[in-house]
Amino acid sequence: MLKKEFKLGDLVEMKKPHPCGSKIWKVVRTGADIRIQCQGCSHQVMIPRSKFEKNMKKVVPPTNKER
Ligand SMILES: [Zn+2]
Repeated sequence: MLKKEFKLGDLVEMKKPHPCGSKIWKVVRTGADIRIQCQGCSHQVMIPRSKFEKNMKKVVPPTNKER
């Protein structure tokens, strides 16, 4: 099974798309609550970790450009 591990700065794909059409969010704060920023419209939301893990589909694999 693939564990849902994520860290600060990761891009994640959520199960439900944001109203703006983007499903990709960036983790901008971790802790008991997770703050994520929509990569389509830059909107930020803070949600409990348990809800985040339930709604998250996967971590988007990092590209090679940051190496
Ligand atoms: Zn959005």
